[in-house]
Amino acid sequence: MITTTAIGYPYIGENREWKRLLERFWKQEIDEQTVQAEWKNLRITHLKKQQALGLTQVTTGDFTMYDRMLDMAFLFNLIPSRYRTLEEVPTLTTYYAMARGTSDTVASEMTKWFNTNYHYIVPEYEGATLSLNHNYYVDWFLEAKDAVDVDVKPTLIGPVTFSKLTKGYNDKELAHYLLELLPLYTQVLQQLVDAGAEWIQLEEPIFTTALSESDARLAEVIYTQLAEAVPQAKIMLTTYFEALTHFERITNLPVAGIGLDLVHGKKENLASLRQHGFPETKTLALGVVNGRDIWASNLQEVAQDVQAVQTLVSPQNIWLQPSCSLQHCPVTVSNETTLFETLKNALAFSDEKLTELVEVSGYIATATWPNPSAVSSSMKRIEALKNHSSRQNETVSTALAKLDEHDFKRAMPFTERLPLQQEALKLPLFPTTTIGSFPQSKEVRSWRAAWRRGELDDVAYEAKLKDETRRWITIQEDIGLDVFVHGEFERTDMVEYFGEKLAGFAFTTFAWVVSYGSRCVKPPIIYGDVDWLAPMTVKETVFAQQHTDKWMKGMLTGPVTILNWSFVRNDITRDIVAAQISLALRKEIDALEQAGIRIIQVDEPALREGLPLRKENWQTYLTWAIDAFKLATSRVDHTTQIHTHMCYCEFNDFIAPITALDADVISLETSRSHGELIHSLKENPYPYGVGLGVYDIHSPRVPAVDEMATILDDSLAVIPTQHFWVNPDCGLKTRQEPETIASLKHMVEAATALRQKAYQHHLS
Ligand code: GLN
Ligand code: ZN
Repeated sequence: MITTTAIGYPYIGENREWKRLLERFWKQEIDEQTVQAEWKNLRITHLKKQQALGLTQVTTGDFTMYDRMLDMAFLFNLIPSRYRTLEEVPTLTTYYAMARGTSDTVASEMTKWFNTNYHYIVPEYEGATLSLNHNYYVDWFLEAKDAVDVDVKPTLIGPVTFSKLTKGYNDKELAHYLLELLPLYTQVLQQLVDAGAEWIQLEEPIFTTALSESDARLAEVIYTQLAEAVPQAKIMLTTYFEALTHFERITNLPVAGIGLDLVHGKKENLASLRQHGFPETKTLALGVVNGRDIWASNLQEVAQDVQAVQTLVSPQNIWLQPSCSLQHCPVTVSNETTLFETLKNALAFSDEKLTELVEVSGYIATATWPNPSAVSSSMKRIEALKNHSSRQNETVSTALAKLDEHDFKRAMPFTERLPLQQEALKLPLFPTTTIGSFPQSKEVRSWRAAWRRGELDDVAYEAKLKDETRRWITIQEDIGLDVFVHGEFERTDMVEYFGEKLAGFAFTTFAWVVSYGSRCVKPPIIYGDVDWLAPMTVKETVFAQQHTDKWMKGMLTGPVTILNWSFVRNDITRDIVAAQISLALRKEIDALEQAGIRIIQVDEPALREGLPLRKENWQTYLTWAIDAFKLATSRVDHTTQIHTHMCYCEFNDFIAPITALDADVISLETSRSHGELIHSLKENPYPYGVGLGVYDIHSPRVPAVDEMATILDDSLAVIPTQHFWVNPDCGLKTRQEPETIASLKHMVEAATALRQKAYQHHLS
């Protein structure tokens, strides 16, 4: 029998039970014992389910109490000194302080897990001696052994990935850090072996990035030592998200098995297998169904992939698994009741993907499909969606076919259109503005809930939103801002709002995935051709504009962000889907212009996130992503000012792509990394209008005028006066009203002082 296994299964549960328990524990509605007991039930349910679906091996350690990198850091007592004073013996109190901060300590840094939309807690090494804390991995392994009759394989984040993703050491200190870390890994592996573990999975996604020569050597040293220290552990070193780099060296490490992604790194991994072969004594875990998307697999194609590998690797040494942990995939399609049949039939979430895997393994073992009608019906269902009318929108395909270079380029260069815009807009120097959203108060949320329940009709709901917009126009006038926004009170989520109004999008009820910690997101599904149906923002923007003499910014989410924060159809390439969204947004921009809106902001916070794992692939992505933005925004009048906004972003190596957008003004989140950005702007001047965020909107703190004035002064060194905008870091949706108003008043005060200084300087 072929081993079928999962690198990891979603821990959140069909109904986000995991998250609810965690949040109740935080609110002290349940105690630690209860949360742990309930979590255990959930883990066991998940294990039993995977056994019932037909896996021959299940995985433990794919669970977490917040984040799996944090679990590892905590296990190694890698606790930064700022949390060490909290408790003598670190418990969950310290663990959650590291995750979320306390009133006196800032939380650990969070960053994207490779090229996914999941964010992990960055471990920090401060040179302190490490030791082993409670080993939950053994508990999880033992409880699983009791619960299921199939093989159980614990998983841990591997030492190279873990150490490379830790911050706080320099090249010289790395050796010291590893010296501390390795004996602990050894102990953990030994404890698992003593508890009865045979296979132990070490996840090393870092091996699919452009690993340097010295890191590859480091991997050899680390794994040689581990193999010598714990010879009984059968290590399955698994990789995912891309093809393996340093293929020959990594596959020859002294481990019992290697896991390869045969979805995202298919071509390259196959080529490497052909070129270098695979060690005869090792097991090869093949990631054959896509663990990151939501689409049913073409099972015949998957079977062919496996057969292709069987000609290169002894068939008895092959395992089958999804391409990566299913943590990035929702749990099950079976609970979705509102999707139309053709779409629903072509979906596969975690449970359905495991079923697919078991089908394929049956076929590989016996050369016949265990369930032939299931296979042919699955092929038919994929075909049905492919041929569905939603994917044959001729207006869209004709419009795309007609595009030429003018569609991607503004008719006048920035240096020429800027004076025309200044003439038309008549803004003061250092204009102040905000990023779009104002606080979504309890009231705003309760109106929306009542409207969704049908207790408020459209007219009553809209009237309330209008009142709120008017109230905030008065507030903006009072604060003294220069360019206004309507406040985005009608939006819950910046992608969902547009998805609900465009053709080609569907929304699920339960398809949640974790974004970070307990925060889950439910990305829309782009299943069909995206098309503009009717104005989406004109009514709100025009209403707001009618109530003030100041300019009202139109507010749109950009094509790349809509794409990157959705599950995207896989029958056409992403660049084409992006272009379809751009065409739709272009119509919206056109409608806003027609309605007299002269400043239009197109947010692209997810532009950077879409970057491929390997730098050599960046350019291809950037070319079409930048084209998508330009396609949406280039056809406006010279005097219409296009703004964009980005956050969650390290901009230091990103100034060239931002420049290429040809947006008239960009607002950036910078208050937490201001110095670095100023430095890189010095090296690479940015030739357009720019507003460096002057205060962090993630905290309720009201920064003093002086604090913001300092940031403005520093920015003067790198931003010419004529290009200089003043704004907060990001939207203010999650903030409370009093702190928002207070902070914005300080911001305007700082900008006004600067403006006066500049005018005086000019006069003298
Ligand atoms: N316009 C959006 C807002 O203000 C931007 C959000 C974002 O950048 N994430 O909420
Ligand atoms: Zn933002």
